[in-house]
Amino acid sequence: MPIKNRIADFQKEMTSWRHYFHENPELAYKEVNTSRKVVELLKSFGINNIEEGIGKTGVVATLENGIGKSIGLRADMDALPILEENNDKKYRSKAIGKMHACGHDGHTTMLLGAAKYLSETKNFNGKVILIFQPAEEGFAGAKAMIEDGLLDKYPIDEIYGMHNMPGLEEGILAVEAGPRLAAADNFEVEIIGKGAHGAMPSNSIDPIVCGASVIQNIQHIVSRNSDPKETLVITVASFNSGDANNVIPKSAKLSGTIRYYNNQIGELAKKRFFDVVNSSCEAFNAKAVIDFKKGYPPTVNHEKQSKFALNSAKKIVGSKASAHQKPMMGSEDFSYFLKKVPGCFAWIGNGESASLHNPKYDFNDSILTIGSSFLASIAEDRLS
Ligand SMILES: [Zn+2]
Ligand SMILES: [Zn+2]
Repeated sequence: MPIKNRIADFQKEMTSWRHYFHENPELAYKEVNTSRKVVELLKSFGINNIEEGIGKTGVVATLENGIGKSIGLRADMDALPILEENNDKKYRSKAIGKMHACGHDGHTTMLLGAAKYLSETKNFNGKVILIFQPAEEGFAGAKAMIEDGLLDKYPIDEIYGMHNMPGLEEGILAVEAGPRLAAADNFEVEIIGKGAHGAMPSNSIDPIVCGASVIQNIQHIVSRNSDPKETLVITVASFNSGDANNVIPKSAKLSGTIRYYNNQIGELAKKRFFDVVNSSCEAFNAKAVIDFKKGYPPTVNHEKQSKFALNSAKKIVGSKASAHQKPMMGSEDFSYFLKKVPGCFAWIGNGESASLHNPKYDFNDSILTIGSSFLASIAEDRLS
């Protein structure tokens, strides 16, 4: 049985919910209409234990049957500030410059499908906590919900979530213990030197030459300071200075990101980053002003819960349940849940499609019922 038969019946209505969310994308913490629609659908399934406004626009619903553990299932609801280019699609975004380019419309729909099924069948003992989370895209909605008391009000024994993956064969469920996505720290550096005529460099402290040196030197943190068996990425993604071809400017700005799976490597990278940037600037008599921001932690799946989830995945997709997909350097705020509650974050193959955050991306509707069946299966298996 590739998917739960009852959930297969929902394909048409789930597709219509997904298209509604796709047409009406909302950015981080502005998911007002999205959460209204989520609540409306949950109520139509007969689910009335619903709390709104956790983490600003988050929604939490509880399904309860008998006595048992409590399993959390989470989906994200926010869209991205991207102008959609899927002009051939009838359900393309109606909000100009906003788009579901990461498939959170699909994630929300898959959790709603599981909610409808579980509320109908009640083939479990315990509680299923349905978490509809805002602001995954850079604004830490998971953290906001936790800080708003989510886990105190709704104690959860285990938590599960899922993200679609373009390029991964349609319907594959990739479930594995250990690091799956990276931590993402961000930095901005202002290099303050001294401006001068472009023909008289000795009168300057040239922030551009200094900046070029900084950019070269921080790459050596990866190649010479970090254990080669560990994973570390340091990317300078912007470098701006000056606006005339005969003027050495006073300052330069650069910004970028640091990615890793292991927090010790992250600490090492941060310490060396400050040392190398400051000493490189000192060598040029320039001054560095560093703004370093810790971002999402690494997403690290727990051993036991990954095994449980893999077993549930096998029941749904058989040999398409895979524990052999390499981790990625992207980041995901489900990591905040995994720091508090044992759990597992899976990937579901979206098939061949434009990549995430691309203006031509679209969620694959044919995986909706697979994802829903997987979530429902986890709840049933863990609360059997
Ligand atoms: Zn995204
Ligand atoms: Zn996403």
